Amino acid sequence: MNSFLKQLPDLKSQILQGRYMTYPKIERLLSDFDSKQVGASAKGLPINMLTLGTGPIKVLMWSQMHGNESTSTKGIMDVMYFLAANPTLLAPFTIQVIPMLNPDGAAAYTRVNANAVDLNRDAQQQSQPETRALFELYDTFQPDYCFNLHDQRTLFGVDDNPCILSFLSPAADAGKSITKAREQAMGIIGYINEQLQQQLSNQVGRYDDTYNPNCVGDCFQAKGTPTLLFECGQSGQDYGRIATRKWFGFSVVAALHCIANNVFMPTAYDRIPEVEKSYVDVLIHHVPDHESQISLAVQYEEKLNSGRITFEPTLHSKGDLSQLNAHKTIDLRKHNSIDFGSFEDAALKKLFKMLDLTHYSY
Ligand SMILES: [Zn+2]
Repeated sequence: MNSFLKQLPDLKSQILQGRYMTYPKIERLLSDFDSKQVGASAKGLPINMLTLGTGPIKVLMWSQMHGNESTSTKGIMDVMYFLAANPTLLAPFTIQVIPMLNPDGAAAYTRVNANAVDLNRDAQQQSQPETRALFELYDTFQPDYCFNLHDQRTLFGVDDNPCILSFLSPAADAGKSITKAREQAMGIIGYINEQLQQQLSNQVGRYDDTYNPNCVGDCFQAKGTPTLLFECGQSGQDYGRIATRKWFGFSVVAALHCIANNVFMPTAYDRIPEVEKSYVDVLIHHVPDHESQISLAVQYEEKLNSGRITFEPTLHSKGDLSQLNAHKTIDLRKHNSIDFGSFEDAALKKLFKMLDLTHYSY
């Protein structure tokens, strides 16, 4: 894992930067691997699969099934280049990766595909070409493990810290039984968490495990394949999620290390705290409101404008918000020059502008 951190800055995949990750951006890296088209999106963009290694343990990974969740796409390409340069680590595995399952959603910067379907709610119907491509690959490859790779929104915290990464061993039935597959996935996550805690204390969470057979992870888990959900999260002002990308890659390498060395830690899984919806992007305290002062919570809306993602501040709530945490906190008393008179849209916009809250990413 530490050699991954050391080699990371020099990996060719570092040319992938920014939150707006589209098919043409990853296309130029595909020829560095054994690459094969395994399907096409609703609008006809290729869905490619990369194969690495020839070892006996088969791992299937897919990223960006939600088009606006690109951190794990960049991160998994980091892992692929790292493994290609470290044959001893790769030796036990045959790895197949779909770096971008939803290229139309990626282009439009939407969660859903071009038919407005959430591919992670399509596991039973398999109504979409992207879903069918994934299931066909699952059936032909018959993986021993599946890694389902995502980003989570900025609102997740864990024990009053920002949740930089969260994991789930999805349920395989409504009763949330600990099946053999589920226990193995828990064991890998437990191991990943032990490694991460040495680097990132208390910023790792466990996702809600309510069973949903329409979710791909729940479905593969129910079929008996140990399946892990990885969720890349927000920490501080890292809206490019550069640190998250690094720890995500570290986690995947840790997972492979766990499998290769048979060091599963299922009991450690239960020690990971569950994520809470406890964060907003910005909290502004001491905002004048008649005779008293209140707090404003700001949430970013992510919008695609001419190839650039704008993180646009919008009012989430106002009042006594002492129960909320934020990735950034502002005390308005320290901004003497700001004259704030009303909560009308125009006044709020002006305030957010004066506080320079907008972020951009390409
Ligand atoms: Zn997602």
